[in-house]
Parts: sequence; structure tokens; C-alpha cells
Amino acid sequence: MSTQNIQSSPSRTVDAKAATTSQLPARVSLDKWADAGFTWSGQVLPSDFTRLESLLTPEHEQSVIGVETTLSKTSNVLGLDFALDGEVWFTCQRCLQPVAVDLSGAHHIDLLEDEVQAKMLDDDDEYLLLEEVAQNDGPESFLPLARLIEDEILLKAPLSPKHDDCEMIIDQVGEIEEVEEESPFAALAALKGKLS
Ligand SMILES: [Zn+2]
Repeated sequence: MSTQNIQSSPSRTVDAKAATTSQLPARVSLDKWADAGFTWSGQVLPSDFTRLESLLTPEHEQSVIGVETTLSKTSNVLGLDFALDGEVWFTCQRCLQPVAVDLSGAHHIDLLEDEVQAKMLDDDDEYLLLEEVAQNDGPESFLPLARLIEDEILLKAPLSPKHDDCEMIIDQVGEIEEVEEESPFAALAALKGKLS
């Protein structure tokens, strides 16, 4: 974020509110916001997420995804909530035409100090250990907000997207071999305590 750099031009002064709603922060200072709570809402483009973008079809225009996210403490446990509203376009693995995949939904991830805290959670709760996700920059510790949201999108994205009612006529002799692939994001899943 470089909004500070353009304050010399009065007509382009960015007020604090506009600045905070302009772009999904790549990271959030835990020292500043873990206790006070942090909220951001706005829109992102799928191309803001480079790993996601590499999976999407270039054959269809992508549209914005609404994001509302809150970092807050409940019963002394830090949690990241975010809700997504929108869809992205993949390539149908059967007919190779664009297929929309709805990303809309709400997510909650507990951010724990240690495994002891995990014992207080319900079995279905997703959690990450802060020491594994927080990034230190000098004395300050940051949560990689955009990366965590992208991780969640990648985990929920279909491995082999297809139209529900794909009408491709299979004009081949014999069966089409369905190849079972291991998710390229299995490592992400392994980081998680639980997957819903
Ligand atoms: Zn299809």
C-alpha cells in the first residue's frame, strides 16, 4: 500500500476510509489489531490471487468477488472470519468450455497460540497455529490476510470442475479415463488442524 506517497497532490488526497477500503490488505499487524479487532470489506479480482488465477480460464471474463473479513477475539481466542460473495470461471474438464464456480460462503478459522487451545474447540472447527502462519517483520508480527483467504478458496475450489449438466457428447470409443489426481494444495490442507 503506497497511499502515503500521493498526498502531495491535493486533488488526489486519499482519506483514511477510502484507503482502508481500496485493496484487500496483504497482511495485518497482529500487534496493532489482534486485541482491538480489525475489519475490512470491499471487492477483489480473482487476478489479485496469483495461485487462484493460474487455475482459471482465460476464455471468460472474471468478475469481482465481494469480501468481508474480521479479525477478532472471542473468549481470548483470536479468530479470522471472512465471507465471500461471487464466482470464478474455471475450465470444464469435460467439454473444455468455461464453467462458473460459486465461491459464496462464510468461513471461520481460529488462530491459536498453541495446541492446548485446540482442545477447547469443537471437532469441526478449523484452526491454524499462529506460530505457523504469522510473519515476523522486525519486532512486529503480521497475519498474511490475503494469503489465508486465497488458501481457503483453493481448498474449496473443485479439483476437476465440470458443468452440472455438461452436454458434451462423448464421441469416443470406450470409456474416458477419469484420472484421480492428488490436490496440488494437499500441503495446505495438511497445515490445517481440521478440514470441513
Ligand atoms: Zn462442460
